[in-house]
This record gives sequence, C-alpha cells and structure tokens, in this order.
Amino acid sequence: MGRQTSAIVEQSLRVLLANNSILPHLAGETREQAFQSLGAILSTPNKTHKAFLRITLDSGVVVRIPAYRIQHNDALGPYKGGIRFHESVNEDEVTNLAALMTLKNALHNVPFGGGKGGVGISPRQYSERELYLICKKYVQYFTDILGPDKDIPAPDMGTGEREMDWMTAEYKSTHPGQPYLGSFTGKSIAFGGSLGRREATGKGVYFVLQYLLQHFVINHLSQLQAYNNPYLESVKAYLNRPLSIAVQGFGNVGSVIAQEAFRDPNHKHRVVAVSDRNVTLYNEQGLEIDRLIAYTQAHQGELPATKQLLEIAGIEAQLLDREAVLYQHVDVLFLAALEEQVHKDNVHRVTANIIVEGANAPITGEADDILAQRHAIVIPDILANAGGVIVSYFEWLQGRDTQYFTEEHVYEMLYDKMRTTLDQVLPVFFEHPQQLRQCCYNQAVMRLCNILYRQGKLY
Ligand code: GLU
Repeated sequence: MGRQTSAIVEQSLRVLLANNSILPHLAGETREQAFQSLGAILSTPNKTHKAFLRITLDSGVVVRIPAYRIQHNDALGPYKGGIRFHESVNEDEVTNLAALMTLKNALHNVPFGGGKGGVGISPRQYSERELYLICKKYVQYFTDILGPDKDIPAPDMGTGEREMDWMTAEYKSTHPGQPYLGSFTGKSIAFGGSLGRREATGKGVYFVLQYLLQHFVINHLSQLQAYNNPYLESVKAYLNRPLSIAVQGFGNVGSVIAQEAFRDPNHKHRVVAVSDRNVTLYNEQGLEIDRLIAYTQAHQGELPATKQLLEIAGIEAQLLDREAVLYQHVDVLFLAALEEQVHKDNVHRVTANIIVEGANAPITGEADDILAQRHAIVIPDILANAGGVIVSYFEWLQGRDTQYFTEEHVYEMLYDKMRTTLDQVLPVFFEHPQQLRQCCYNQAVMRLCNILYRQGKLY
C-alpha cells in the first residue's frame, strides 16, 4: 500500500479505536490488538500474482511482458478492480491501486473486495493483433485465480470494452461449461455489458460535484453554518451558479466529465480548459466540448494540438502546454489523467478551491496536506470515481440473471448509491473539519473493520 494510503488508513484506525461504539464488545487490550490486526490486514494485499507474458510480436520477435494481478482484500466479496495497460505499471503501483479498490467498494457498500491488474506496456506501440495476444495470455496465466465469484477485472487506464471482450472470450474457453458473463465487467453491450458502463465513471464524478453544490450544502446551509467549518467558506461562493471548470485528461473519464458540465441543464458552466498528454486547450468563454469529443473520436482519442488542427476541428482555443490545465484560475479542477499530477512542487500554482479526483491518486500526500491548509476541498478518488465499479456491479448482476436494465435505470441506481454514500460522509465532513478523504476512509475502514471482526479475522 502506498505511503499516503497507509497513513490515512492508520489515522482512520486511530479514530475508530477511540470511538467506543465501534466493536463495543471488545475492551482494553483486546480492543487495541484487534485494531492492530486490522492495520496489518489492510496494509498488505492477500495475494500478489506476477507473470511475464510471452508474446510473439508481429515482427516474429518473442518478448516477455510483466503482468500483475494483486488481490488486496476479499472480506466484502470477490476481488474487483481494473486492469491497467501503461508503461509505468509496477508492483507497488498496482498494489496501492488494489488497496484503493478495497476502500472504494467498502465506502460505497458494493459487495466486492479490492484487486487490480496491470501490464507494463504502452498500448499505442502495439498492433491490434499483439494486444489481442497480450489479453489472451493475461487470462491464460492468471486463469485459476479469476472468475465471477473469485476475482472480476474491468477496464482501467489503457483498456476498454475491446480488451474485456477478448479476455472474457478467453475465460470462456478456459472454463468450458461454466458461467462466464460475470468474469469481467466493462464488456461491450453485444457481449453482455451494461448500458451506461462506459460513461459511468465520468457521470458519477460530475454527479458528486453537482450534489455537493446544488443540493447538499444548500439544503443544509443553516445547520452547516453553525459548525463554523472553514471548508464551508470554500464552497459557499459556488452554490447553484455557473462555474468555470478545468479538466485534466480527455479520455473515457475526463471527456465525459467535460460533456456533463457542458450540457448541464441547470447552469451554463464554462469548461475553459481541457488537456491530454500533448496539450492544454484554453478558452475563457468556454470550449465547445461536443465538437472536441467528435474530433477526438475521429483522431485516436487525441485533442487537436496545432493551430491547423484546431481550425479543422472548428474550435476556438489557445494552445498551452499540457500542465497548464492545472494552473488556470477556475472554480473547479477535475483531475482525470494519471497519478501524482499535483505534487509538492506544483501544488502552489493550483488555485481552484474545489478539486475533484476523477483519476486514482492524482494528488500526492504532501500536496494534499498543503491544499488542506488553505481549505481547498478535495473530493477524493474513492468517493468521486466509484461510478465505474458501481455500474460494474450492476453489469455483474445483469450477467448473472441474463436480465438487462435500461440505461435510465442504470443511472438512477448509480446516483442512488452515490447519494447514499454522500449523505453519510458529507455531514461528518462539515461537522468535524478534516479532509474529506479522511472522512471517506473512516467510513470505509469502519465497514471493513466490522466485517473482518464478524468473520473472525481479528484474532
Ligand atoms: N478501474 C475502475 C476503477 O478504478 C473500475 C473498476 C471496476 O469496474 O471494477 O475504479
């Protein structure tokens, strides 16, 4: 588990240990021991699987590609979490991401544990056939540990429906006669995927912001004011009004966030900056997000990065370097790209008062503390980006029953689940000023603590 994650989990354990209504039947030393056991369980994965996939490239050369599946914790249900294809993938990173999945599922009461997979490649450098072989081999190497009731992967950075379909097909042939629709989620609709799954993460991220600013704070304003919480001042200026917004990352998550903001029927928000791995596009009046999405769909997901390409796309924007998206004077900054984008060396240039983590772990621990000192509200990954895994859960249910929900129903259930969590953590956050991340961890760790105790795992 990463240093930041484990420090926050430790703090949650301290908070819960001091709260006598948690595990009330345990007293004194036994109680302390139980919390020590919890710390040991949550800070390490249950199982770590590593393989070197042997792939014959199109050129005929044989290469070995590092691949991982980390099974962090299954107390709440089968391991669940995406598979990432990225050149930076390594065991520590995947382990930390697996731990975040355990916490994310626990926080939102999704009946799954936490896991994560990774393959250390830059997918753009491989042909479709090579990627197909990598997916097939991944399933072959890890076939015994995967399955609808054991460990259910899904897309993550660098993977999507195509990869999930290939992997599900391979699972199907390596498990003849067994149910396979629930073995992977994030599949195409044609192969048993769920309507709304592709957009779910981005929609959920945007929903969290909207719920905070257009519902929760307004509905409880007089009560929240009585708490005198400095974080309240950070949001008060933004209630129920048009916002200026920047979105880092224009992939499956960032583009949907930008679109949701652009199309919000309640307010004319301005999405003034978006970025990808090449460029930041900026327009103070607001960017034409629908046009940008149409452009990226026709250009391998990339934003127009030259004046000429902007003209072709019919977009009015300034071209800035890719990091510039972080430093614009906006009301809300969404981080939907990679990890560790905001760190101690650049956090001072980030001026947004509300920062939403669409990606996993985009802010380092040090930067997070600096943001807290100026009472910027950080809506943490495990709270904000859970839409993907929540709809994965719906996909898993649909696959099990071979009964499919309408898109409308999927979103209704998604928002319902996220609202329930928000109604649990937001009151605590405003009543006891501390980072929202800490409140979310406390809630997740409390759930894990209860179940681990009931399962007899704390002796
Ligand atoms: N990769 C996504 C995440 O980090 C989704 C995981 C899933 O659907 O299992 O939450």
